[in-house]
Amino acid sequence: MSAVIAAAAIRGAQKIVAAAEEKLRDAVRLKGRDAAVEFPNTAYYLPVIFSLLGIPVKTLADFEPVLAQCRALLPPDARAESRDLAAALNAGMASLYAAEIIEACKYLVGPPPVGGIWLGAADDVLFRERGVEFVDGSAPGFAVIVGAAPDKETAVAIARKLQSKNLYVFMCGQTGGVSFAEQLAEAGVQMGWETRLVPFGKDLTAAIYAVGFAARAALSFGGVREGDYARGIEYNKLRVFAFVMALGAIDEPKAAVAAGAMNLGFPTITDQNLPEIPPTPGAAYGLLVANVPLDKIVEKCIEARGLKIRVAEIAIPVPYSPAFEGERIRREDMRAEFGGAKATGFEYALMASSPDAVEDGKTEVVGPDLDALADGSSNAIGLRVEVYGRKMQKDFEPIIERQIHRFLNGAQGVFHMGQRDSVWVRISREAFKAGLRLAHIGTILHAKFHEEYGNVVDKIQVKIFTDAAKVNSLIAEARVAYAERDRRLADMTDASVDTFYSCTLCQSFSPTHVCIITPERPGLCGAYNWLDGRAAYEINPTGPNQPVKKGDAVSGKLGQWQLVNRFIHEHTGKSIERMSAYSMIIDPMTSCGCFECISTVLPQTNGIMIVDRDYPEMTPCGMKFSTLAGSVGGGKVTPGFIGHSRLYMLSRKFIAAEGGIARVAWMPKRLKEELKDMINARAKDAGLGDNFTDKIADETVAQTEEEVLAFMEKVGHPALKMDPMF
Ligand code: SF4
Repeated sequence: MSAVIAAAAIRGAQKIVAAAEEKLRDAVRLKGRDAAVEFPNTAYYLPVIFSLLGIPVKTLADFEPVLAQCRALLPPDARAESRDLAAALNAGMASLYAAEIIEACKYLVGPPPVGGIWLGAADDVLFRERGVEFVDGSAPGFAVIVGAAPDKETAVAIARKLQSKNLYVFMCGQTGGVSFAEQLAEAGVQMGWETRLVPFGKDLTAAIYAVGFAARAALSFGGVREGDYARGIEYNKLRVFAFVMALGAIDEPKAAVAAGAMNLGFPTITDQNLPEIPPTPGAAYGLLVANVPLDKIVEKCIEARGLKIRVAEIAIPVPYSPAFEGERIRREDMRAEFGGAKATGFEYALMASSPDAVEDGKTEVVGPDLDALADGSSNAIGLRVEVYGRKMQKDFEPIIERQIHRFLNGAQGVFHMGQRDSVWVRISREAFKAGLRLAHIGTILHAKFHEEYGNVVDKIQVKIFTDAAKVNSLIAEARVAYAERDRRLADMTDASVDTFYSCTLCQSFSPTHVCIITPERPGLCGAYNWLDGRAAYEINPTGPNQPVKKGDAVSGKLGQWQLVNRFIHEHTGKSIERMSAYSMIIDPMTSCGCFECISTVLPQTNGIMIVDRDYPEMTPCGMKFSTLAGSVGGGKVTPGFIGHSRLYMLSRKFIAAEGGIARVAWMPKRLKEELKDMINARAKDAGLGDNFTDKIADETVAQTEEEVLAFMEKVGHPALKMDPMF
């Protein structure tokens, strides 16, 4: 490392640590040493400090040992140590811990880190939701942009390019009083987690929210224990694909934060003319890549961090990337909308039985296209996607159909919501001006289905109907098909098949986690059912979804089979020997970090509670969802706790070994209301009579286990008369 850079990083770290000491002194003066300090709704305390130092900071007093560590990491003399890369990297770590102290104190005494365009710390709900995208590869990594571009046009060009590579863009810091995020805001660019352009904060110390995201990934998905510094650093280097893009002049504090990021394996790429840090043997790039022209900087960042980017080339006049999936189009910005609340809309994918019935790549628009429709109008739409493939199966139709939502939303200026006969599409005026027309929907679907489903889709043609009379006549045929599919799926049981499917997608983050997906137990993220597993295997025979023969039953009650156990043993690095598909007490399935819900035994009640990730409050088991998730996730087996999908609780096999749905004693009110009809139907089927949801407590009647028990006694909950759970 150049002596100049190293000395700058060390001096910068000294400044940030001094600023943290001052901020802490102020906070203690205003609130007292015992004042509680936290980032909102997280089980990971202050995640960088918790992950790497193992200190669960709860009060201002808990910062004292952290500051002591910061001071110990700082060399006393920046110049004397300046040729020592390790000294600079250590100083960088001190600056990260200190930055986290400063940002946490802001939550307590201000200035508020959230407000205007600034989002501050992501809570655990957001972290899990977005973290899953890093797990499944739809987000290859994230960029931390520090500083600002020379002008807003350059900022927009860089941001759009990063979005088009599917990367998340975390923004913090400023150059000459201007920040990159402010430049985007001025140019009217939509920011937020949905568009992957995330403005954390204008201060440099807001970079800690990006590092905290990586730290939580290690704890939550990687099963790294808090305080295991070496494994935490290794996890970040190997599995978190992040880099720093430093724009504009790099002052000493920026050099310090960059050094901290480098210690985690995140290189810094800058437009500034600085001495580079040469690559270590075997590496293509060093930790500091400098003097990069701004029109090449995105490509250079990707190369330097070694990111694998898969981007579809689609011949449409607007950019295409998953980063646009969360884009919303306001009524005043739309050229036209289709379906939704004001018009009929449906989409229907169907299998053609002969190759001649489908002309690959053909798109027909039947009815007026965007040019002929009134500006801002609401119109009917019918999307009919006809697919032929030698390996295509009738059962894959819903899987193909479900992709339409994701595929269309990838186009900038196209918004799609809903499914089947309740779809809603908007096209922005900007996309229309760029040349986008309805026929491009066919172009997108043709390209994406061939790219991602090429193994089962040989030919695809798309018909788009906008003539209201035609749409209304065709929707009836589609509805018959939807009903037939539902019947087929409802008839499918674990006993009716001899093969289940695995999913090991989450092993990239949770190396000992395997989902076994059965007809009656979907993957715990809710994204994969048994048919999805089978289709995914047909599409990619060497991928993460493999057929798992059941073999002889070890226990029908628990849901254990010989060959399934063997598979689990082999695919968890021999760390787990058995798995029960139907029990949360004996050999329950591992949980990664993607589960939609967690079920937990409430011992006093002889029942369980279910909490989903959207419920941030305290639950009757004494833990919030985020704390529970931290204890259960990471590929562990935790008897008494299971992660699962929302719909799994409606399965006949839901904790069947313990008595099933009759055990459910508490759920958040919103989740209970959303699933009410289905829960009641399932409970009735299980012999629990009508309106079982009236017997399930929620936060409005019970917040502690004792209150849940009192409620159960009042309503005569069936779990009170069942055998003990363990
Ligand atoms: S099915 Fe299981 S392993 Fe696969 S992505 Fe979902 S949670 Fe992860």
